[in-house]
Amino acid sequence: MGRREAILAEMGLAPIWRLRREFPKLEEGQAQSPARADAPRDWVELKQLVSGCVKCSLHKTRTQTVFGVGDPSAQWMLIGEAPGAEEDRLGDPFVGQAGRLLDNMLAAIGLDRRQNVYIANVLKCRPPGNRNPEPEEVAKCSPHLLRQIELVNPRLIVAMGRFAAQTLLETDASIASLRGRVHRYAGRPCIVTYHPAYLLRNLPDKAKAWADLVFACKTMASL
Ligand code: URA
Repeated sequence: MGRREAILAEMGLAPIWRLRREFPKLEEGQAQSPARADAPRDWVELKQLVSGCVKCSLHKTRTQTVFGVGDPSAQWMLIGEAPGAEEDRLGDPFVGQAGRLLDNMLAAIGLDRRQNVYIANVLKCRPPGNRNPEPEEVAKCSPHLLRQIELVNPRLIVAMGRFAAQTLLETDASIASLRGRVHRYAGRPCIVTYHPAYLLRNLPDKAKAWADLVFACKTMASL
């Protein structure tokens, strides 16, 4: 068994190798407006701004902000929801069990968070008890994410989970209805898939998440 097969088997995805249906071609959407003129100029300024951010009440309960991880000029950018307990403790996104699944899924398509992908969350601070982010927290925090996207300048964005997808695409549509199409966020193609933490609780949907990644690879290849 090759490395890719072994990884897929470990994820419970083998022997699913092909999409069973073709997804439609790129769908043009509205590019969002660029970050404000007074936005941080570079990574150093942005990291400083985020680490000292007190724009919402989450700063009172955080251990530290969780900025993002990966290659700052990656072609792929993956976006999750918000830090959990482990992320709050360690300062990096997706370092818990969901992160291990994410890393395995990325490895299966030849991606590695240390090399060719950048991972960030909608929120940079942990909501207490891992509750859902509040709209006001998203509104205050999303300029940080938008600036990260501009600085990374990825060719493709993958929104993981209802929260990332609904926030980025400004919709309340379900993940099921958003999957399988190319949306746009900040002018870049954006593909929606399930959140790794959801996949840990809903094993049968791993196959759908794998189909989404295959679709993302195809989309990337067509850009
Ligand atoms: N879930 C997320 O959405 N992000 C993390 O960083 C960890 C868990």
